[in-house]
Formats: sequence, structure tokens, C-alpha cells
Amino acid sequence: MLVTGTGTSTGKTWVGAQLLGAWRAGGHTVAARKPVQSYDPGLETTDADVLAAAAGEQPESVCPGHRWYEVPMAPPIAAELLGRPAFSVDDLVDELAWPGGVRYGLVEGVGGPRSPIASTGDTVALGEALKPDTVVLVAPTELGTINAVLLAASVLDDPVVFLNRYREGNPLHARNARWLRDRTGLDVVTDMDALVSRLS
Ligand SMILES: [Mg+2]
Repeated sequence: MLVTGTGTSTGKTWVGAQLLGAWRAGGHTVAARKPVQSYDPGLETTDADVLAAAAGEQPESVCPGHRWYEVPMAPPIAAELLGRPAFSVDDLVDELAWPGGVRYGLVEGVGGPRSPIASTGDTVALGEALKPDTVVLVAPTELGTINAVLLAASVLDDPVVFLNRYREGNPLHARNARWLRDRTGLDVVTDMDALVSRLS
């Protein structure tokens, strides 16, 4: 499956780690891939570290060592700024390999669907190349969620929408979720257990 978000910092990695953990706890073999990552070098962990811990893998298996860019900007821009070679979506796809026997394989994009992931494309292009069984769209539940979800979903193939940080007692959250479910036909999930079931 491919995990993307309505933007950056929506919780893609957290959601991915929760899913991987749940499947592992259920006895399934899982693997995570972050084809490229850029990050603030002042932070203690990167997405690859978090996903690797959840999947029981090494961070360099999740994201190849040469695809770590220590500048918190879109990866192709970070590469340019660091004076490292440009790379394409095809390069990322070619570098992506799965161990044997994986039941659930999760690929995390960068930023939102239209954020540059390589000099030739974005997470939409990555998805077109990988043809995942499922696309998960992670959205923060807040004012503006409906707009963000509809814009992102319009360029994705029938995504499962996960409203992250959803609180049942919050009227804004509840009404946003209902609006999306009733009026857009999107598949909207608001809690992690339900997301695990939906994707299993
Ligand atoms: Mg992330």
C-alpha cells in the first residue's frame, strides 16, 4: 500500500508505524519502504528509523543510505542544495526491493501527493509506477480538512481516507467526517482499529 497525506506533517509515518505494528502483532510479515527522505539533521529520528522500528527492519532497508538528504526541503530540492546528483521517480522505483514472504508492504511518500519526490515527479507519479493495491490518504482533522482531503483525493486512485487525530466528542471533527462520508463517496476512517480492519 502507498501512504500519502494531505500535506506534510499530517502523520503519515505515525499511521504507517501503527499499521505495521498491528500486523506484526497479528503474526504477519511486514516491510516498510520510504524511497527517499529529507529531514532536519537536528532531529533524533527520521521517518526511516520510525518505520524500521515498527516493521522490525533496518533503517537503511527502509530507505537506502544514499537517499537520505539532511535538509528539510522536498528531496529533489534538498539534493540540489547539497550538491548531490539529481534522481528520478524511475530511480526510486528501481531501488525499491521487498524481502521475501511479505504480507503487508507499506510505501510512504513525501509531503502531499503533489510534493516533489524526485526531479521527475511526485507521490502521484510514484503511485502510477508502483500500482499499489491500496492508497491511504492521511489527513489531520481540523478546520480545512474537507478542502485538503478533496484536493488530495482528486489526484489519487480511490484512496482510503484516514482522519488523523480525530476526537469523537469534537463537533467539528464529527461533522467534517460526516460531510465527507455523506457527500463525497470517499471511504473515510476515523480510528486506528478500524483502519487496520479496513486494510487487512
Ligand atoms: Mg513521514
